[in-house]
Amino acid sequence: MQTEAVFGLENRHTDGRNNPRNHAKLMNRDSSPPSNLRDRAEGLMLGLACGDALGRPVEFRTPAGIEREHDRLTEMIGDGTHNQPAGTITDDTEMALCIARSVRERGTFDPVDIADRFVAWYESSPFDIGGMTRRALSRIREGESWEQAGRNTWEASSEGSNAGNGSVMRCAPLAIAYADSPDALIRTSVDSSRITHADPRCTYGCAILNLTIAAAIRGSDAPLAEALAVLSDDVVKPVDNGHDEVAFEATGSATTPEREVPKELFEALRGVPDEIDESTLSNSGYVLDTLQTALYDGLTAASVEKAIVRAVNRGGDADTIGSVAGAVAGARFGTASIPDRWLVEIDAFDELVSLSRSLWTRTYQFD
Ligand SMILES: [Mg+2]
Repeated sequence: MQTEAVFGLENRHTDGRNNPRNHAKLMNRDSSPPSNLRDRAEGLMLGLACGDALGRPVEFRTPAGIEREHDRLTEMIGDGTHNQPAGTITDDTEMALCIARSVRERGTFDPVDIADRFVAWYESSPFDIGGMTRRALSRIREGESWEQAGRNTWEASSEGSNAGNGSVMRCAPLAIAYADSPDALIRTSVDSSRITHADPRCTYGCAILNLTIAAAIRGSDAPLAEALAVLSDDVVKPVDNGHDEVAFEATGSATTPEREVPKELFEALRGVPDEIDESTLSNSGYVLDTLQTALYDGLTAASVEKAIVRAVNRGGDADTIGSVAGAVAGARFGTASIPDRWLVEIDAFDELVSLSRSLWTRTYQFD
């Protein structure tokens, strides 16, 4: 998450390290042949964390600055932005963990419980937190419901600071739990965003990303096109109603009040990846930029490693673009496509694997 980060509240040791526990875990990885689909679900969670952790030290840097200092950043390094040890995950993975733990423990999508977990994480004084997220979670802590807080935060934010990437970065675990139910996946993705990011570009950005990831897990050759096809009847165009609040006008006969996909979002993603000029891609924290760039990298790279390295070396909101690209590529290629030298640096490795397996194996309710 790019904006209004809170820096360095703790100074852990900053040398790169190999965690022996994770080494042992990797060597003893489940020897029974995993199903391809389960392995892709695991790759999604680990790809998200690796993109986040590789990008963390170069968040806010320019591509030229990264090149000067690192040539090309391919290894987990310590220090850098936020001054943390190598392999440290940030808000992207921490908030994805909140969603994944909640769904597993509750057996269903429960936005009240997810919001509570977000607030508990916020109260731990994280070193990286986005502006809208902080404002919305602060409102919840003061007693507003998650729906009020997300809505009020959005309405109080002006254009330019009302549609960040802080919900798309964390929503991917839902694509495992609800991989087989597009309606549930759309609704839970949208509601997971509304807790902090109620703008339709963000809420439906989460829905499109998760439909894409679910299609990738199933082995689709064109997962984003499949995702957009699911929502194509629900695209609406913005209406200038003279107020700050964005209104939308239905253009498709099948549109329901629950599904209003901004035309701007749909148009930004329709040409990805084949009709995109890579030189036009942005590394900003604006949700449309992040989705365009991360989906381009995640859908075109030949491995998870290549997707994440390319995304992170773009700089800017490097950890979030890296984590979204990593989740997409992880869902395409599975865990085997992620370097062990990265995975041993991720302290949450065991829990990420365990959560991905639980979310994949069990059936989760949705009201
Ligand atoms: Mg972050």
